[in-house]
Amino acid sequence: MARADGLFVPLSACWICGGERLTTVHELRFELDIYRTQDPELAAYSGERLALRRCDACGFAQPAALPSLARFFDRLYDQRWSREWIAAEFASPVKDLIVRQILGGLSARLPPERRRLLDVGAHAGRFLTIARDAGWAVEGLELNPSTAAHAAASTGVVVHHGNVHALEAGARRFDAVTITDVLEHVPEPIAVLTRVHALLDAGGWVAVKVPNGPVQRLKENARARLIPGYRATLAVAGTLKDPQYRRN
Ligand SMILES: [Zn+2]
Repeated sequence: MARADGLFVPLSACWICGGERLTTVHELRFELDIYRTQDPELAAYSGERLALRRCDACGFAQPAALPSLARFFDRLYDQRWSREWIAAEFASPVKDLIVRQILGGLSARLPPERRRLLDVGAHAGRFLTIARDAGWAVEGLELNPSTAAHAAASTGVVVHHGNVHALEAGARRFDAVTITDVLEHVPEPIAVLTRVHALLDAGGWVAVKVPNGPVQRLKENARARLIPGYRATLAVAGTLKDPQYRRN
């Protein structure tokens, strides 16, 4: 099910180990109608389907192809969320336990004087706030311009806008980098982690949190059986429900 039709560029080898024996485990569907006014070229992918394939050698799963549209992921993560929804995301304590576990794990591995932290995928800034209050010198990196602006305004710390490849390495070094619920959304995760490694000072730590794939499939398939009309999804571009989306 690899495709080469102009819209997609096929992927023939596993991003992690290079293995070429890939088995289809799920079908991905593009639902991008919400971008119809904002970005018609992106919305043109709506209705397209791609196989999600698992590598026989290492178990990593990835799509059978990548969209050929330039800056596809930057455009995808330019959701025009409403101010109210972003503010609610900032105020939500849903992930606080995970945040505290991550910070606790890093604190235990680093001496107290090493507290420079970069949060990759800072979203609305809640992680940054909790980390700062726990004594970390924090900076954020966020692809979505709306949430990046909110994170900067609500925390008063530096929040870089863009993806990890665009962030200048230069003199900037961190003792810890956190990547929470981000890595599963981006292509070529090893390239991302290589970049993150370059931002770390010697002996620094990276904390990665991703959803559990098999559990997610189990949960979604159960939902699809129980709820009439529900379709199991494994990867969505954040939450794109109409009410929280700002009208163009
Ligand atoms: Zn592999």
